[in-house]
Amino acid sequence: MQISIWEKESFYAPKDVIIVGSGLVGLWCAWHLKKNDPTLSVAIVDRGIIPTGASTRNAGFACFGSVTELVEDAARFGEENMLQLVEMRYKGLQYIRKVFKPVTIDFELCGGYELFTGNEKAQITSLDHDIEHLNTLLKDITGRNQTFKRADKKIAAQGLHHVTHLIENKLEGYLHSGKLCQALLQTVQSMGVTVLNAIEISGFEKQNDHIELYTNQFVPLRTSKLLICTNAFARQLLPALDIVPARGQVLVTSPIENLPLKGTFHFDAGYYYFRNLGNRVLLGGARNKAFEEETTTELTTTNTIQQELEHFLCTYILPGYSYQITDRWSGIMGMGNEKLPIVKEVSPQVFCAVRMSGMGVALAPVIGQRIAKLLSS
Ligand SMILES: Cc1cc2nc3c(=O)[nH]c(=O)nc-3n(C[C@H](O)[C@H](O)[C@H](O)COP(=O)(O)OP(=O)(O)OC[C@H]3O[C@@H](n4cnc5c(N)ncnc54)[C@H](O)[C@@H]3O)c2cc1C
Repeated sequence: MQISIWEKESFYAPKDVIIVGSGLVGLWCAWHLKKNDPTLSVAIVDRGIIPTGASTRNAGFACFGSVTELVEDAARFGEENMLQLVEMRYKGLQYIRKVFKPVTIDFELCGGYELFTGNEKAQITSLDHDIEHLNTLLKDITGRNQTFKRADKKIAAQGLHHVTHLIENKLEGYLHSGKLCQALLQTVQSMGVTVLNAIEISGFEKQNDHIELYTNQFVPLRTSKLLICTNAFARQLLPALDIVPARGQVLVTSPIENLPLKGTFHFDAGYYYFRNLGNRVLLGGARNKAFEEETTTELTTTNTIQQELEHFLCTYILPGYSYQITDRWSGIMGMGNEKLPIVKEVSPQVFCAVRMSGMGVALAPVIGQRIAKLLSS
């Protein structure tokens, strides 16, 4: 197939910036690039018919970390890095709320909880100390004296079983991941960004003053600056990066009459997460039950994890209820030896914003801001 002159001079015209990946990071980067400089010509290219990685396949949490997750992060990566991430996540969530009306993205400040079953002896022993310590550290970020507080009295009202301790964070919420991506996509298109789907970028080459992209389609793509936002899949184009894929599996129940559960919930340092979705329950995680098997970019579900999730569901959340599992899916996160994202110029005129470590919903708006600054400097 030959390209028409009209196509060559519009859709496929050389761009100032081409972004690979139309997930939340690619979209927020496009949003900030156009906001900073409306004259910039920007295109986003994605191999999926819609964004197909993590952004439309997560659990729809608007969160910035549970107590045990933050304590573990501080121990592994240092207190300063932990706080830097919390601040980016918190600011990112504020940004989403500034740009989109709650009704557009089904956002609700529902409150978040972390639960304990009594088996986590060491964590429970230091719970009050950890809450107090984190509240002191987080005060400058959230502006609250008590970001986290004990809420054991709410265990019964939430309908939870075999749960001994509960921590509440009133600043946490949930949203509709599909509606957020769609709203962002529509917004960047209205700002003049060209969005090209079903085109896989297989490589790129610097030629004189521009970058030539190689694709699985017969389309010429040329750009002054290339920005790679493919997160878990980034090593296909940038093999030297410290990124490994981590699959997150999810299930959703049928509607449940008088479901008492309301809010977002974390368990086991964030390895399990669940929320109400109207009067259904959405539950995900359990990756730590099969780490090796879940280190994959395959967007499928497995019996091992799904059975573990169903066991968790009928033990702690819905014992005695009658329901069906109506939906199951997986999404792929990008992890590495460090938890901070990789946002940098990898070679002249080639940039990346990847490795969101399972926090990209919250991080993406701030990452987009950083990228716009980096590309304009
Ligand atoms: C189950 C689950 C739960 C999660 N929970 C949370 C949470 O509670 N809070 C939170 O903040 N985050 C959470 N996340 C993480 C969050 O969803 C991700 O960090 C975020 O969506 C990453 O966005 P992204 O744009 O970097 O990557 P993605 O959304 O993965 O987008 C990458 C895009 O690149 C495209 N692509 C890849 N390779 C190519 C190529 N060669 N050519 C063209 N296109 C390509 C893909 O098709 C994809 O659309 C969760 C994720 C999952 C899966």
